[in-house]
Amino acid sequence: MSMADQELQQKMYAYLRRHHPEVCRHWFDQIKIAGVEGGLLRLVVNEPVRLKYLQRACVALFTEAAQAASGRLMTVRFVASDVEKVDTSVKLDRSSKNSLGEDVSETPILLDEQLLLSPDYCFDAFVVGPGNRLAHAAAVAVTSKLGRAYNPFFVHGAVGLGKTHLLQSICQSTLRNQPSARILYISCNTFMDAFLECVKVGRMSDFRNRFRNVDLLVIDDIHFLSKREQTQEEFFHTFNMLHQSGRQIVLSSDAAPSDIPDLEERLVSRFNSGLVARIDRPCYETRVSILKAKAKLHDLVLPEDVPAYVAARIDSNIRELEGALTKIRGFALAMGRPINLDLAKEALGVVVLAPGSKINQPSMQTILDSVVRYYDVKLTDLVGKRRHKSVVLPRQVCMWLARRHTRYSLEEIGGYLGGRDHTTVLHAVRTVTARSTMDDSLRADVARLEEGLTKNQDLKTASQPVGKV
Ligand code: ADP
Ligand code: MG
Repeated sequence: MSMADQELQQKMYAYLRRHHPEVCRHWFDQIKIAGVEGGLLRLVVNEPVRLKYLQRACVALFTEAAQAASGRLMTVRFVASDVEKVDTSVKLDRSSKNSLGEDVSETPILLDEQLLLSPDYCFDAFVVGPGNRLAHAAAVAVTSKLGRAYNPFFVHGAVGLGKTHLLQSICQSTLRNQPSARILYISCNTFMDAFLECVKVGRMSDFRNRFRNVDLLVIDDIHFLSKREQTQEEFFHTFNMLHQSGRQIVLSSDAAPSDIPDLEERLVSRFNSGLVARIDRPCYETRVSILKAKAKLHDLVLPEDVPAYVAARIDSNIRELEGALTKIRGFALAMGRPINLDLAKEALGVVVLAPGSKINQPSMQTILDSVVRYYDVKLTDLVGKRRHKSVVLPRQVCMWLARRHTRYSLEEIGGYLGGRDHTTVLHAVRTVTARSTMDDSLRADVARLEEGLTKNQDLKTASQPVGKV
């Protein structure tokens, strides 16, 4: 690449980072400029999934950046190699024969409905922790021995915990290791729509050709098969066909096979016949690592304390963690300020005021003090190890109040109360919530404590509880 090209590229990326940070990826520096000809700037991207991503999502923004950087009118085009003509046809199923040599030439239906792969969802970008270790190891094994390691491979877990990421990683890895393998990656909803469409127009043989002639069938969110009897029946046959001929099946779901409501027993037993792996919520350390990995992916520099802070505040799922990062990045851009802990707190809705000013949520100290006074217990007992009845309830009430009236995470609340872990806090919050619905005196106690807190607050603006219970 010439100096002029390098300079143009750097200016383009600076423009993109400033105006469209959401599309930027750390691997953009591997893109090469092939040259500008007749107002066409060709950019070479060798990796097919990345190429497809750029063609799909970035042409207009790169064109805008190229024009801003060069001051000239030009259009950007992404190509697979600098000698080849523009390649716009990167598809997952590129050959008309499968690995067994059977002819499965294109059925026009369904091809465009395949889900596209995201370059972000690969094994390299997947952070492994205690909650997903088994699922990850199994996914890697599946890829290296298609059809022979675990078949089917069934991964389940709550929303936003990385199921789709793992499924796509399997596809991308297979695509790289076995370029001739026919891969079909599809959401369960698309599978069902395609099925109904084919039934309607009487093209079931097309449908069967399409789904029964692949080496790797990956269906995301298979729990949507619930109650769909006719599709379940068809899928059962598809499953058997593929399984009997040693083709790999990978499925994801929000619940274990036997917990999917209204799913035929024979499908449940098929799903259970391979490896079923559950993904659990990530622990604090994993959340920190994921935030760092996501920041790196988006070329974002974060001071150490920012991921630590975000991970402590958000413990629900990874999509929410990413949302927080996006908020922080957007806030920094809008304010023209560097990312640091104060900015992160502001971006996530905690008002940071100058020292000495008043904040509109009770401090942890205020909560501890009012519980100590109300129940007449010692602070050292409240945060200490004692499990005596006289101190357990006040401690639980303290956690409940903190959860409801502050934005502290479960971990942070546990930290204030003698380093208890988040599950203890969660248990306390649930206990107090449940008991106060049945126990009038407890309900009156917490109501009085809450009233006191609101009165004690330095600013009277906080009429709404800010936490969640
Ligand atoms: P699900 O399909 O389980 O609802 P996704 O796979 O869509 O969840 O994951 C949500 C987001 O969290 C994605 O952006 C994904 O990249 C990210 N994510 C989930 N697990 C991990 C992980 N272990 N490492 C890195 N990113 C992850
Ligand atoms: Mg998903």
